[in-house]
Amino acid sequence: MKLKNKLSLQFTFLFAVVLFVVLFGIYMLEDSTRKVSFYDKLEDRAFVVGEFYFREDNMTKENFKEVIKKFPQTLSNEIASIYNDQYQPVFIKENTARWPKEIIQEVIANKKIRFTKDDQQVVGIYFVDNSGNFIVIASATDDTGKENMKTLSIIMLFSFLISLVITFFLGRLFATMAVNPINKIIDKVKIIRATSLNKRLPVGKISHDEINQLSITINNLLEHLEQSFQAQQSFIMNASHELRTPITSIIADAEITLRNTREVDEYKSTLVSITKDAERLNEIIGTLLELAQINLDRSELQVIQLDEVLWEVADEWGKSESRIHVDYGLAVNAGRYSIMGNRRLLFIALSNILKNAIKFSNHKDVYCKITLNAESIIISIKDEGIGIASSEFQKIFQPFYRVANSQKFPGSGIGLALTERIIRLHNGKIEISSKLDEGSEFRILFPR
Ligand code: ADP
Repeated sequence: MKLKNKLSLQFTFLFAVVLFVVLFGIYMLEDSTRKVSFYDKLEDRAFVVGEFYFREDNMTKENFKEVIKKFPQTLSNEIASIYNDQYQPVFIKENTARWPKEIIQEVIANKKIRFTKDDQQVVGIYFVDNSGNFIVIASATDDTGKENMKTLSIIMLFSFLISLVITFFLGRLFATMAVNPINKIIDKVKIIRATSLNKRLPVGKISHDEINQLSITINNLLEHLEQSFQAQQSFIMNASHELRTPITSIIADAEITLRNTREVDEYKSTLVSITKDAERLNEIIGTLLELAQINLDRSELQVIQLDEVLWEVADEWGKSESRIHVDYGLAVNAGRYSIMGNRRLLFIALSNILKNAIKFSNHKDVYCKITLNAESIIISIKDEGIGIASSEFQKIFQPFYRVANSQKFPGSGIGLALTERIIRLHNGKIEISSKLDEGSEFRILFPR
């Protein structure tokens, strides 16, 4: 079912329930008012009869009968009868049943009673007189009142049905108006394809309604999609470039060498060059596989002393031409730099950053430090190398991305992508501060 139909049906149902309760309430109230006012009228009639009988003490039954006949009856099926306090009728209309003794007793006990019998309303009044107490019981049917109630219920039923029809169509109109902007969004989103991810939905400037929020959310999603699509495209382009360079070099070396007969030494040097390119190729493919496969298997998790890993990495790279200074901070408090993690992966991550620091500073001194604050264990690796422009901070973590100023250095651009993945798997993050031609600092923060 379409949303607008569903909304208008729900709205109509709700309105029907409310309207029914209100109309039912009005009907019941009106009915009880009708009953009360009819009892009042009946009571007046009983009083009139009583007063009359009261005054005409000496009147014979026959005379009284005559009088009561002439007495104008205004209520339908009205019957008034008079009993003495021995429960005997002193006046009763012919062909009418006597009231049972219990009813007369109840009138005497309560002085005045009201009740309904079948469709009749009945009022009983007890009169006290020095010549003898008597009871008047008057009954009648409220035909006019009931007829009015019937008319009212028909009017109410029709108004109820007409209101429901009007509500359904009005609800449908409002629902259509409310749903229309969503339909527009659907139409616009339908035409967005991989080739047109740069398209955006129009966003109103002033209104902050849900529709606008939906457009903004979809636009943000499109922004992310576009970015990851571009990242994927540049990944493919960079990857094929990085993989093709050593292959082209291998083919060129082989072809040139094969063109003429060469000395043994020439063949050897060609093979050395081919081996180097093949090794580079192998390294790139290995790192790529590592990047695609790394995962933190819970069973491989162990308590890792980060200062120990840093020491191992520094020791490994300390054999190069750079001097690596390591500040272990609170080393005396053994165990304070421990996290749960994978030792091999953490070694690769720290190693990549330290290797870059050495490489991009032309083997100048590198400063490593491990500290902690209330929330994190922080490893900082600082160099005095070529530096990185702040606009490149995010990009250097993309696979195969290399900043222009580093093209003359060897490398393939996937080390940091792998590093960032590893650190993220350990719930950590990497912060960079750097200045061109002055140096860079990479800070790795692990939650404590
Ligand atoms: P690679 O070192 O193989 O080029 P990485 O993924 O390790 O690839 O680094 C990506 C890019 O980030 C590098 O090419 C370089 O441009 C930049 N970069 C990384 N570390 C440093 C650093 N310490 N100083 C300057 N530039 C750096």
